[in-house]
Amino acid sequence: MRRLNFTLDLDTIALLEKLSTQYYAGNKSQTVRAALESLAAHIGHDGWVITGYTPMQLDTKAACHSCGTDHPEGDVLFRPVFERGASPEALPHIPAEVWLDCSGCVEERLMA
Ligand SMILES: [Zn+2]
Repeated sequence: MRRLNFTLDLDTIALLEKLSTQYYAGNKSQTVRAALESLAAHIGHDGWVITGYTPMQLDTKAACHSCGTDHPEGDVLFRPVFERGASPEALPHIPAEVWLDCSGCVEERLMA
């Protein structure tokens, strides 16, 4: 263990006091550790992340990869574009299966 010295503004100090009192019996070191672990989990890991979508008109019927809804020939679904990046949802490999999402699922993902 090492003692670290850093500066926080008053709002952050109040937040730290509130969280440590509420959840960690007033232990501020434990609170900061939990906050950092939560941040690390939220930032995510390296892998392949969806950075955009390419619209595709179906020449045969297909199902949405995310919600499973069937779509007839002629409907427009969206194929994800993968790039290297970090995210909680990052995939270790580019999926080999056919991946087409419906507009509803694409909108939901982009809003998240
Ligand atoms: Zn869908």
